[in-house]
Amino acid sequence: MTNNRYKILVIEDEENLAAVLSTLLEGAGYQPIRAGTCALALTLYASHRPDLALLDLGLPDADGMRFLREVRRENRTPVIVLSARANERDKVEALDAGANDYVTKPFSSAELLARIRSALRTFGPQEGRKPGAKFVLGDLRIDYEARRVCIRSQDVRLTQTEYNIVAFLSEHCGKMMTYSAIAKGVWGYFDEGCVKRLQVNMANIRRKFGVRLGENRYIANELGVGYRMNGERDE
Ligand code: CA
Repeated sequence: MTNNRYKILVIEDEENLAAVLSTLLEGAGYQPIRAGTCALALTLYASHRPDLALLDLGLPDADGMRFLREVRRENRTPVIVLSARANERDKVEALDAGANDYVTKPFSSAELLARIRSALRTFGPQEGRKPGAKFVLGDLRIDYEARRVCIRSQDVRLTQTEYNIVAFLSEHCGKMMTYSAIAKGVWGYFDEGCVKRLQVNMANIRRKFGVRLGENRYIANELGVGYRMNGERDE
């Protein structure tokens, strides 16, 4: 059975608050997943691929910033920091490290839900990546919810970064995306090293897709500019 509800990872060690948050999220139609430690949060993050994370910074085993940094190395899943720490420096540090929003405790339920809606709208899955959505281009098929790519019904084993690049290009299919746009979409930032990293990942993707050198099947390359996923979106 397909579950079309957004998954929200609730990283909070205070049992009472975690229970209140879970009930609130369920009531609003989300699917909460609870983690009381940073280690468990990272494990559940990898296995459940939530659409958003609510992150308490004061966790028993590590600073919540560790979770944020780990997640940001791979992708841009929206993270809203929930914290009792109200000072500017913590806030700036969390936002610089890639948090999408910061809510200081205590907060109202209505305000938190509004921030979640806004984060999902602005930073969450794009149109084509809503839970349950699929992308088809000839014999290439992407199942966004399962984070799976198939060619001629055969699974293509991509790393997380490779998958994120392919998914990002498919969302903008038919459009040439610059190195900088892809890097920002995949890693959340762009610097000199990103072009090289992109090229290395792209070479692996093309090899796994069975595309020969100089061939532009699925993904076209414009040297010095960027990449484009071919064709039109075909739901
Ligand atoms: Ca705490």
